[in-house]
Amino acid sequence: CGIVGYIGRNEATPILIEGLEKLEYRGYDSAGVAVYNNDEITVRKFKGRLKVLEENLNVEPLKGTLGIGHTRWATHGEPNDVNAHPHTNVKGDIAVVHNGIIENYLKLKDWLIKEGKVFISETDTEVIAHLIDYYYEGNLVDAVQKAVRRMEGAYAIGVISKKNPDKLVAVRKDSPLVVGVGEGENFIASDIPALLKYTRKVYFLEDGEMVILDEDNIQILNEFGVEVKKEIFEVTWDV
Ligand code: GLU
Repeated sequence: CGIVGYIGRNEATPILIEGLEKLEYRGYDSAGVAVYNNDEITVRKFKGRLKVLEENLNVEPLKGTLGIGHTRWATHGEPNDVNAHPHTNVKGDIAVVHNGIIENYLKLKDWLIKEGKVFISETDTEVIAHLIDYYYEGNLVDAVQKAVRRMEGAYAIGVISKKNPDKLVAVRKDSPLVVGVGEGENFIASDIPALLKYTRKVYFLEDGEMVILDEDNIQILNEFGVEVKKEIFEVTWDV
């Protein structure tokens, strides 16, 4: 299971796929990407090896310079195309990738269904997309912060919204996530090997921390929303 995210000036899809390849050692049963372009987020996701996704993308390329990718190790819901990540809200304008388990997802799901949200997968992850949508009032960071306060369990998540296409937001708690610092581009990934082709500069996130990336800036907030200043870690080894 792995997460990769990209925001910058280059095509996101090849960077996401290459990052996911570097995370294959973690094991997975499905793979997918969501890429923003021209006021739309497009999701492609399939059960099976990364190759299945890659072949689809070769036939029908996905353009765009903002995206998230995922390899899934199913915990809730069998491995199939629908349960594969990324997951979206009903309108498809918010996309989420997630590693870990949302322990209270059934309670959240019941409540969100009463609020009118329509679920299409059996995953715990889908509640995150609907939760962010529920709290979204024009500010993605606010909405993710509010959603995370409702979530119990372990998670590393990456989130994009077509209404805030200048941002990639990620949060971690009890699941790994690192931030890659580039020039005119920035990254998130479950592990350093996914980043090494692009940068050796990384930030490590602590539990409860959120990172907000745009092309040129990286902001890290603690669980109370207070900005945290960190040292960049320079990776000296190779894979
Ligand atoms: N619990 C989530 C699912 O089953 C995420 C699994 C993972 O970490 O890949 O979809």
